[in-house]
Amino acid sequence: MRDIGVDVKNPTAEWDGDVNCPFHGTLRLRGQVLEGTIASLGMSRTVVVERDNIRYMQKYERYEKRTSALSAHLPSCIGEVAVGDKVKLMECRPLSKTVSFCVIENNGGEA
Ligand SMILES: [Zn+2]
Repeated sequence: MRDIGVDVKNPTAEWDGDVNCPFHGTLRLRGQVLEGTIASLGMSRTVVVERDNIRYMQKYERYEKRTSALSAHLPSCIGEVAVGDKVKLMECRPLSKTVSFCVIENNGGEA
């Protein structure tokens, strides 16, 4: 297994031969590392991850919570994920029109 250069747990599930895996395949990761919550599991190997941004609104002198969603590639070795799981993502080359992040760690759900 390759060292992806970021301090994450080694994935434990089976690798299915997907080359777009940063640990077993040839996918290179660079750029931003983000954390988010799984919001949807619609597509195979792709998940939708939501992130909360807290913004200060000068006009109203209060904070506003905004949620942004992005699609991320889910390598098979990360294993099963569920909606609500906290995951770590890292930027990679664009894998499709909307996917340019890859899930690199699953920290499970709340509780
Ligand atoms: Zn893998």
